[in-house]
Amino acid sequence: MQPPRGMHDLLPEVFKVHKFITETALVIGQHYGFQPMSTPLVESMDVFCRSLGDVSDIVSKEMYELIQKGSERLVIRPEGTAGIARSVISNGLTQSLPLKFISYGPMFRYERPQKGRTRQFHQISVELFGFPGSLGDLEVITMAYDFLRALGLEKRVTLELNTLGDKESRDAYRTALVDYFTGYKDKLSEDSLIRLEKNPLRILDSKDEGDRAIITGAPLLKDHLNETSRKLFDEVKEGLDTLGIPYKLNPHLVRGLDYYCHVAFEFTTDELGAQSAVLAGGRYDGLMALLGGPEIPGVGWACGLERLALMIDAPEESNGNIALIIGDEDSRLKGLQIAHSLRNGGFTIEPILGSNLGKQLKKADKSGAQYALIMGSEEMARGEVTVKNLKEGSQQSVAFEQITPYFQKESS
Ligand code: ATP
Ligand code: MG
Repeated sequence: MQPPRGMHDLLPEVFKVHKFITETALVIGQHYGFQPMSTPLVESMDVFCRSLGDVSDIVSKEMYELIQKGSERLVIRPEGTAGIARSVISNGLTQSLPLKFISYGPMFRYERPQKGRTRQFHQISVELFGFPGSLGDLEVITMAYDFLRALGLEKRVTLELNTLGDKESRDAYRTALVDYFTGYKDKLSEDSLIRLEKNPLRILDSKDEGDRAIITGAPLLKDHLNETSRKLFDEVKEGLDTLGIPYKLNPHLVRGLDYYCHVAFEFTTDELGAQSAVLAGGRYDGLMALLGGPEIPGVGWACGLERLALMIDAPEESNGNIALIIGDEDSRLKGLQIAHSLRNGGFTIEPILGSNLGKQLKKADKSGAQYALIMGSEEMARGEVTVKNLKEGSQQSVAFEQITPYFQKESS
């Protein structure tokens, strides 16, 4: 039996890294006032069709649809932002702005599995609703930077920055792009020909090699920005300069989804081959309205845990482990009782199986435990337990009721 193609079990080694990354994000998020939340893994298909648009890669080819009774078309979520925006509307939260959310969990996309690209993958995402202007942009970008720095990655990633401008700027740009790409109609990939009709900006995001060559010469959005868009972008750059967050302008950076405007950014790495984006985000002022809600500005990002997990290890957990060695049947219950009170005191203690003391001690040592707590008939008779320090080889007797204070003193 194998898991479905492109989906992976998170065995403890990897799970530990995911946990470390997620906990780090939650702590940094808290410094910025982001509240943790989550939405169902399954949403109405409409949530994604309306927000991402029919020509997006996600909607056109990557969504998993559920086969179910009843007429509602349900899909397993391919990304998080649309569901969270839906949730803001469903829960009537549009009157309590600003809203700042951090969430994490699995996403599902039917795409070709490769290193750093899986069909079930995990994202942490941050959404900020009701913050127009550059302050919101700076909050989420700075938080992303602090988060990556807390993971020790700030030197191994590059913040790439662009602006998609407002609607007026993008309309002007779109015309210029259509003119340009129409001249290459016979060379563009099939996907990009469709994009040329429906959403030419998307061509800039194409991963097709032939397309990439043509894109190099394409007109740039920065030459079509109106005053408002330019000013907003200048403020973001000025803010990053002031905060000492390094970035690189990338005029070809566009977000793959329809609802983005103004600032777009990616933290990329050259350590993961083609899957270079570890964290990506931008402003999505139009999203709420697309889902039937009021016009509410939004900005946020999502990062892929699988990609980050390829770049870091979880920190060593301090090993204060205690191995419980039970000598015989009669001392079993007392041993369990002591273990229970130690656990309630915050210690990690695990029973070691084995047929005799020598073998059990060997196993305890191998398990990485620092202490062995030996509980046999002699100990029962004395009302004391034997504590062996496995690293130093020393041992001593400790009265039953002194066990927890003993370990508290040892670990202080
Ligand atoms: P890509 O261009 O690599 O396909 P994307 O634009 O589709 O990425 P987003 O929708 O912006 O990605 O998702 C944000 C982040 O989630 C990405 O930067 C990446 O780290 C991660 N991610 C996206 N798709 C996958 C996947 N299939 N497997 C693993 N991680 C992914
Ligand atoms: Mg993709």
